[in-house]
Amino acid sequence: MIKEKIYEKIRARGTRKHHEKQNEFVVHPSGVCGCQRALWYKFSGVEPTNPPLDAGLEKMWMGEILHGALNDLLHDGHFTPGESKKGDIDGIQYVYEPDGIVEMDGKKWVVEFKTVFLGGWNTVQNEPKPEHLTQLAIYMQLEEADAGVLLYLDRGSGHMIEYSLTRGAKFDALLQDAKKRVRELQGNLAAGIPPEPEFPIFIKRVQGGGMSFDFTKDGKAYKTGFPCRWGKKDTCAYFDLCRKNYIDPIQKGLADFNLDGHIIGGAE
Ligand code: SF4
Repeated sequence: MIKEKIYEKIRARGTRKHHEKQNEFVVHPSGVCGCQRALWYKFSGVEPTNPPLDAGLEKMWMGEILHGALNDLLHDGHFTPGESKKGDIDGIQYVYEPDGIVEMDGKKWVVEFKTVFLGGWNTVQNEPKPEHLTQLAIYMQLEEADAGVLLYLDRGSGHMIEYSLTRGAKFDALLQDAKKRVRELQGNLAAGIPPEPEFPIFIKRVQGGGMSFDFTKDGKAYKTGFPCRWGKKDTCAYFDLCRKNYIDPIQKGLADFNLDGHIIGGAE
């Protein structure tokens, strides 16, 4: 009874909205560091094919609760919770909201919280995710901060781990990467062609004549129904459309693909 009521309220918040085609090119740091193909669909005003599932809404809700609790806990003379702002980097307009700002010893730090769960904790125990560091670098640049802190909190155990970033060669490289991603997205929008998914597709022969999909990156093989590390049905609003747009040309013989380790040409 109460559970249903909670879901009803969570659904009513409508955390995934349809994005109208935007006349103004304004990006969010997390969008720049996420899937550019999804961003292309969004900026092109494409109707999402995958409404949010309860599991996805629940995860977002829990994340928001924890972010709010951390801000309440930390708010003092040094730590200020972030607020929504606008800024630009080399003419690219950003709308952004860092989780917090710390002013201490004459230095300004940007703080970004990431709440993780299940396998997510294992992937950040030894190093942060590159896309999260890039996001932090963008915040630092927009806020003209000296440094940044990325704090991971495991939702299951409450364990925390933090990584810091200061200005220097690594920061410069991360910022260059962000600028490159934005330029490429602008190029794809101008051409009207969505960027390729990040991973090449590898198709294996399977019993019964069907197809299954594997992909590799940096020499490591992964198994998935679709070569995407960002999107699942509960996290990507364009999952079905994206998969269809990628696989249809292969199935129609219009695009090359890798079958059992051999490139099969279909696009000549
Ligand atoms: S399914 Fe993956 S590659 Fe496709 S738009 Fe969504 S996140 Fe991007």
